Amino acid sequence: MSLPNIFETRRKNYAAKCPHCGEPHHYTELKFPAVNDRGTWVIKCNACGQPFAIDLRNPIESPTGNCRVLERYDDEENPYAGSVDYATDKAVYELVINDEDPIFDYSSHPIYCCPVTRKGLEQPALAELTAAMSDIRRQWGIILNNYLARRMPEVDHLVVSIKVPCSCPRKHMATFYRPFQVDPSASVEVEDFLLANISGTDLDDVLSGIHTKSYLMDALGKLIVRWRLYKDQILIAAPFVGHQWKSKSEKLEIWERLLKQLDAKRTVFLTRSATWSGYRSALHETGLDHDVLASYGLENQIVATGNKKQDFHAKVYIGIGGQSEVFSGSANLVDGPSMENSSFAVSSYTKVIEKYVDPLKLSLPEAPDRADHHLMISQTDDGWKGTIGGGPAPELS
Ligand SMILES: [Zn+2]
Ligand SMILES: [Zn+2]
Repeated sequence: MSLPNIFETRRKNYAAKCPHCGEPHHYTELKFPAVNDRGTWVIKCNACGQPFAIDLRNPIESPTGNCRVLERYDDEENPYAGSVDYATDKAVYELVINDEDPIFDYSSHPIYCCPVTRKGLEQPALAELTAAMSDIRRQWGIILNNYLARRMPEVDHLVVSIKVPCSCPRKHMATFYRPFQVDPSASVEVEDFLLANISGTDLDDVLSGIHTKSYLMDALGKLIVRWRLYKDQILIAAPFVGHQWKSKSEKLEIWERLLKQLDAKRTVFLTRSATWSGYRSALHETGLDHDVLASYGLENQIVATGNKKQDFHAKVYIGIGGQSEVFSGSANLVDGPSMENSSFAVSSYTKVIEKYVDPLKLSLPEAPDRADHHLMISQTDDGWKGTIGGGPAPELS
């Protein structure tokens, strides 16, 4: 039996409507076990652009969600004295369906394989990470002290770079990451990290060919994890989710598995309207009323932003950035043993828009800004080091 831990930081998810135009904004309030500050954020509305205020606990540490926070005030040190309106309409929500919880499944077929030995490198990478955890925790402690002691540039991710042993002459470096959060009570565990890349591997060689539907779904899950770190946006275009003869709960399971993996703010999901309404009715059966959710913008934002173009049969999954990655093939989003063809390729942003986005008559929303820096913990000749790197993620090699 486990008791609720009073020493744990608690998180509450909120939706607050802009007092000017009603646009819902999402954020998370942290409640620490001991000392909690109160304060205010001044936010720029995502829809009308006017500023409004939100009062919350721990305005410095709480995650901003999709809010563009202009200013943060602490009631003790510098209380807010301005005149912008506060959001009065707020809702706390606890919806599993909107909880992002991306996973990297090390037990499924590896996509990061050594081209020489043909062996998977994902499990050896995980073993290295596990063995290095005490060094990583030590560096994390140093970083946290620095962060609390003085200003650091904005970062979204903590990245760990670690060497993966292999019998080939190549050097394989694994890149793991987790969201960066200033939370002195948070522990750093192996499970918190996601695998974003292993260098010296060849995704095109591994992914292009004939594979089962299940293999391709697993591979897509891993690519999404990769794109969450390296790319600005993700496009998922698939006419069908699940087989038509699958039960609603089975379909919902596929939807949820996929949606948990994706970042709502950076994903465009294109599907057929019948597929989308099937999802809505499956949602309804689980007791979630779509219309109430919609008024707070809490219907899954990912699907809501998807256009519903009828006449397409393309299945393409793209990590969009300066260097984009395109995964495509014959498989719909469904598991199964049957064989499908697939391909993986790297392409420029302009080419991706021209060849994949424009023909679908999609207009991509602008990707939210990413942090200018990332934190990197890596092994150097002088031992483990924590450094601040330029860009939202390290260079992809
Ligand atoms: Zn507004
Ligand atoms: Zn190798």
